[in-house]
Formats: sequence, structure tokens, C-alpha cells
Amino acid sequence: MTSHCDRAAWLHGGEVKCANGAAVPARPFRLVLLGAPGVGKGTQAEMLSSRLGACQLSTGDVFRAAKSADPASLGPVMRAALGHMKRGELVPDETVIDMVRERAACLRCPYGFMLDGFPRTAAQAEALDDMLRANGVKLDAVLDFELPMEHVVARLSGRRTCRDCKTTFHVEGKPPRAEGVCDHCGGELYTREDDRPESIRVRLQAYEHNTTPLADYYHKKGILRTVSADGAPADVFARALEALGL
Ligand code: AMP
Repeated sequence: MTSHCDRAAWLHGGEVKCANGAAVPARPFRLVLLGAPGVGKGTQAEMLSSRLGACQLSTGDVFRAAKSADPASLGPVMRAALGHMKRGELVPDETVIDMVRERAACLRCPYGFMLDGFPRTAAQAEALDDMLRANGVKLDAVLDFELPMEHVVARLSGRRTCRDCKTTFHVEGKPPRAEGVCDHCGGELYTREDDRPESIRVRLQAYEHNTTPLADYYHKKGILRTVSADGAPADVFARALEALGL
């Protein structure tokens, strides 16, 4: 199945209509995806979306879409939320929960969904449970992509970004043809500040601090599925499908 997802209702507001091309799946999957930066969750979300037909619903993407919108079109709550995001802080629970609640139609989507970046706190997880109950649906599973911290550091610290066109390379996984030079535009490749090993460790510790209680929450409900994110994307994908009983 190819992905039908344009995520219009999710990105631009619950009242917007999505253009769905694919046939409605016989079994829609309703999932939460967990995974630290650098584990390859984005790649897995794309592969899962193509296979299951469910959209990847990322709260971070909604904020990024708002950031590139006309500031005059944003209300005070969204402007404050973007301020938190710019400072690298979490947006207050109440704001994120309201934003997801406005998009509750996506939770009832007949194609299913994969929430990414939400919930991030225990309060958000409880609010999500209330919303799911109110909409008469249940989570099938929470996929937690795991990779030892040293592997994540190795993956992210090998990343090189073009100063001009922002294309990313990897010193081992996807090396440029000439060292330090972008294949596409000839721009200089550099290591982003937040891809330095010391910054990566700080980001990962913050992630673990927030996510461990969430993993416990879903473990107690019996729907947490831990997936090793080690190895090639196709191998991780096979493990994710197995975890879903597919
Ligand atoms: P992400 O792409 O998921 O890393 O999100 C980017 C930024 O959006 C985060 O650093 C937060 O500022 C904000 N954000 C996204 N989702 C949430 C959430 N569930 N709770 C709080 N803040 C969030």
C-alpha cells in the first residue's frame, strides 16, 4: 500500500479536509511511536505509513507548520507555544493537549494513525486516553524504538550538513563524493552544534528523563512493544512489523 497521507487536517486544523486516495484498510492501526533523536524513528514512520496506510501525526510538525505561517494569522496561544519551541523548551501540556483535541477527527480516521512526539509527558498520556475513549477508539500498540546511547552518539556525530542547501550526509552511512563538500551544490559540509557528542548526550538524557515514565505507563497497560533500532532500516522495519503481529 502506498501512503495516501497529506495530513492536511492534522497540520492545518481539524476542520480542513484531507485528500485520501487509497482504499480504507481492513484493519486500521492506531499507534504511538517513541524513540530518542537519532534512532531512525522518522525513517521507520515513513515505512510504516506506506505499509499500514496510517498517517504519521507529529506535534512538532504542527508547530513547524505554524512557524512558517503568517505570524498575523496566529493566535496568542500558538505564538507563546512557538516561543517555547524556539528556546528548546517543551510547549505547556495544556496547549499541546488543546491542539491535539482540535484535531480529534484524526484519531477517528478510518486509516488509523501513528502519533509521533505526542504524548511526551504523563499528563499528555492521560489526556490522550480521555480523547481516545471519547472518540470510541483504542491504541493497538506503542512502539518504542531503542538504541544504546553510544550508537546514537556515533550515528548523530557522523552527520554532516551542507551550509548552503542543508542536505545531510553521514561520514559512514552516506558519505559525500568529496570529503567536506556537498554533492548537490558544492557547499561546505559542517557538524551542526547540536550534533556534537557533548550536546547529543544532553539531548538524550533529557529525552530519557521525559520518556521513561511514559514507557512505564504503557508497559502497565500491556501495549508497550520495544523494538531494537540497531542495524539497517529494513531489519528494524521487519522487527517493528513482528512487534505488531504482522
Ligand atoms: P519534535 O519535532 O517532536 O522534536 O518537536 C519539536 C518541538 O515542538 C519540541 O522541542 C517542543 O518545543 C515542541 N513539541 C512538540 N511536541 C510536543 C509535546 N508533545 N509536548 C510539548 N512540546 C512539544
